[in-house]
Amino acid sequence: MKTCSSCRESKPESSFHKSSQTNDRRTYDCRECVGKKIRSRGPEYHTWVRMRGRCNNPNNKDYPRYGGRGISVCDRWNSYDVFLSDIGRRPTRNHQLDRIDNDGGYSPENCRWATRLQNIRNSRVCRLEERSVICILLMVELGYDTKKIAEFFDTDISNVLVIGSGKNWTDVFMRLYSPSASSDAEHGWPISPLNKL
Ligand SMILES: [Zn+2]
Repeated sequence: MKTCSSCRESKPESSFHKSSQTNDRRTYDCRECVGKKIRSRGPEYHTWVRMRGRCNNPNNKDYPRYGGRGISVCDRWNSYDVFLSDIGRRPTRNHQLDRIDNDGGYSPENCRWATRLQNIRNSRVCRLEERSVICILLMVELGYDTKKIAEFFDTDISNVLVIGSGKNWTDVFMRLYSPSASSDAEHGWPISPLNKL
């Protein structure tokens, strides 16, 4: 049993999110209270809670890719109110919190709201040109050796594997090949890259 820091009720572990610690690590909000806060404080609160979970809570499934590799939240942003006044309201549902330098932490200087597509393009894998990514995807599908592909494109094998698995890129490709792809023209994406290969 755990006591919720907000409603003060004792509830079983299952009533708490694993990553539901609030300002300090010893206080926890139950699912119900987290839900209420999110609804009353807006989607930015959810973003703030999840950001902190990824960086501060070793039980969080994303911790190895964030806190575990030294990505931290700046001291200012221990306060939700300060976070909100620094970053502003989320412009649209399609925007997510983006770190400009992927190896830098969460701070006013390194963060902005970006669309999912901008966010993916800024991620580690996306430092490759989109043309290269398409070639890599095809080569993986054709059964070329992963190590050889990585050497040829001068990139990490892990990048080749991620591209091959379609994990980060599925969305991008879905958008490229969907009829509404032209809406991404502003990002400079070729509308039908495969036709050009
Ligand atoms: Zn509660």
